[in-house]
Amino acid sequence: MFASVLIANRGEIACRIARTAKALGLRTIAVYSEADADALHVRLCDEAHLIGPAPVRESYLSIERLIEVGRRARAQCVHPGYGFLSERAEFAEACAGAGLVFVGPPPSAIRAMGLKDGAKALMERARVPVVPGYHGERQDPKFLKEKAYEIGYPVLIKAVAGGGGKGMRRVDRHAEFDAALEGAMREAHSSFGDPRVLVEKYITAPRHVEIQVFADRHGQAIHLNERDCSLQRRHQKVIEEAPAPGMSAAVREAMGRAAVEAAKAVGYVGAGTVEFIADGAKGLRPDGFWFMEMNTRLQVEHPVTEAITGLDLVEWQFRIAAGEKLPLAQSAVPLQGHAVEARLYAEDPERGFLPSTGRLVALELPEGEGVRVDAGVEAGAEVTPYYDPMIAKVIAHASTREAALDRLAAALDRTLIAGPRTNVGFLAALCRAPEFRAGRFDTGFIDRNLESLGALPRPFDRAAAAFGALRLIAREEARVAARARLVTNEACSPWDVDDAFQLTGARTTMLPVVVDGEAAIAHVQFQDKATRVSLDGVAAASDATAVESGEAMFVVRRGRQTVVRLKDFDSIDVEHLDDSGLVKAPMSGKVIAVLVEPGVEVEKGQRVAIIEAMKMEHALQAPLRGTVIEVAVTVGLQVAEGAKMIVIQPRESDKEA
Ligand code: ADP
Repeated sequence: MFASVLIANRGEIACRIARTAKALGLRTIAVYSEADADALHVRLCDEAHLIGPAPVRESYLSIERLIEVGRRARAQCVHPGYGFLSERAEFAEACAGAGLVFVGPPPSAIRAMGLKDGAKALMERARVPVVPGYHGERQDPKFLKEKAYEIGYPVLIKAVAGGGGKGMRRVDRHAEFDAALEGAMREAHSSFGDPRVLVEKYITAPRHVEIQVFADRHGQAIHLNERDCSLQRRHQKVIEEAPAPGMSAAVREAMGRAAVEAAKAVGYVGAGTVEFIADGAKGLRPDGFWFMEMNTRLQVEHPVTEAITGLDLVEWQFRIAAGEKLPLAQSAVPLQGHAVEARLYAEDPERGFLPSTGRLVALELPEGEGVRVDAGVEAGAEVTPYYDPMIAKVIAHASTREAALDRLAAALDRTLIAGPRTNVGFLAALCRAPEFRAGRFDTGFIDRNLESLGALPRPFDRAAAAFGALRLIAREEARVAARARLVTNEACSPWDVDDAFQLTGARTTMLPVVVDGEAAIAHVQFQDKATRVSLDGVAAASDATAVESGEAMFVVRRGRQTVVRLKDFDSIDVEHLDDSGLVKAPMSGKVIAVLVEPGVEVEKGQRVAIIEAMKMEHALQAPLRGTVIEVAVTVGLQVAEGAKMIVIQPRESDKEA
């Protein structure tokens, strides 16, 4: 076994690799960009090296800098994780050139599988079923259109160099082919620097089923069962599970054999995944699946395989890279129960799943029997726009699929994330979606069910907003009380708000707030020392959690975040008071301080009085500069909204101007 490893990655995957590497006694060497100086993976590893600024091209994708660190830190091997350089043959070669063992397949295998057309041709020769289509050299539009016609619509145009669903276009009609081809080629060119495409039959109701394979340097290859990754959005996996619903021993065996053949055909070594597409409309059949591509690395979703097999796939990777034989024979590979993984993202399902950045003001990840969490961040960390906004993966394992889904849904319910918006509520809704639970789903499931999954724009959560307002009132009360203790100890002080409110008894007031950037009015009722808040007639929620950060209250209810702030009166006063110099009460309340007296000069924006309403203080500002000519109120006085408080005479010179 190796003595040390350079982990050429960040976040959740770097943490995952470090965990096993440490357990195996390896010295762990992390790399980080300037944006990741405080990242969890940096602290988790034995040592860490800065490799450059935040942009990935200058840090995590810089082969030169990574190799340099590997040399300097005297690493014995390099684990690339997934994403970044994990499938770049040049990186594997550069490692070898620097005397570092690359924990992954040989560069030749990466290359053989790197382009979809070449990989398909290779698979056909190895008698692995591939999706019917054209994956040859010719790229002229007229020829490709003819091929599409021969294949039969619908067809899928795919970038030969594609990945992550980019450069892919579904075409339903012959007349639409030209435009789709042009779009696919343009996208392929800009994303991968290679405009070439292939055309294949579009499988309606497709299921994505992939096989985890492992091969050693001694010519042996086995598979560790399948994963179903059909729950996707824009061809990106959202929920993955193992085993695949509806999988029979016969189909598993046929698929597993095809995957092992695929690995052997390219002289594969290490962990890899062979992705197949199956026709979900007809169920999983031994002759109803086709090779899509092979990922020559560890997968994001490897934990579901670890759950059902009880194996540590990263440990296997290290052992095989160190030259050991495969630890198990095919017949000894376990398959226990069912596991489901959900990818927790900082994104906003209600706004097209747009990445949502910002500081994680709260992060409570679930624990419990049969629940595993792979996280790459901690509370307080910043989700930046530089990297993938994944926060964590939550994996549940149980004896049955039903139980695993229940366990995952419950774990997601216990997850609290505030700051950036997240997909946690959406994921929990997916786990509970009846059709998905019944095993009736394909890769279009999410798109067809956005509304019932809560992934369309909705009005803000009134109950959560009212709860946030209630918490803001409590915070202001605490602030006023703290100030009162500082200012005076006298019980009859005007700062003693509790006293003041007992005198006034029950009453209802309006509290202007800002909810998710929208102005709203909370109705606040004080009675018998209890405060009740409602918004548009909806009472404050009792099943919400609020986290305070800065001036805002982040309320999380059923996985959905609502941000509530008090409307800032200070700024309103200057802008909205008339320019005659009349300072009016912006709301009904009690005058708790008068900061000027007749005859004094004031500047525009200067605080002239403080009124207290609903147990909160609001400073009133001079709308213009001039001289105070009248003070119409005294401390302790109750004033009605709009009442005259102070009059300022504008300065002569200003009036003339
Ligand atoms: P990428 O490398 O860009 O991720 P893949 O070839 O792996 O592209 O395909 C990604 C996803 O696109 C698959 O998981 C599947 O949902 C869908 N897909 C791919 N090929 C087909 C096809 N022939 N018919 C229908 N859907 C397909």
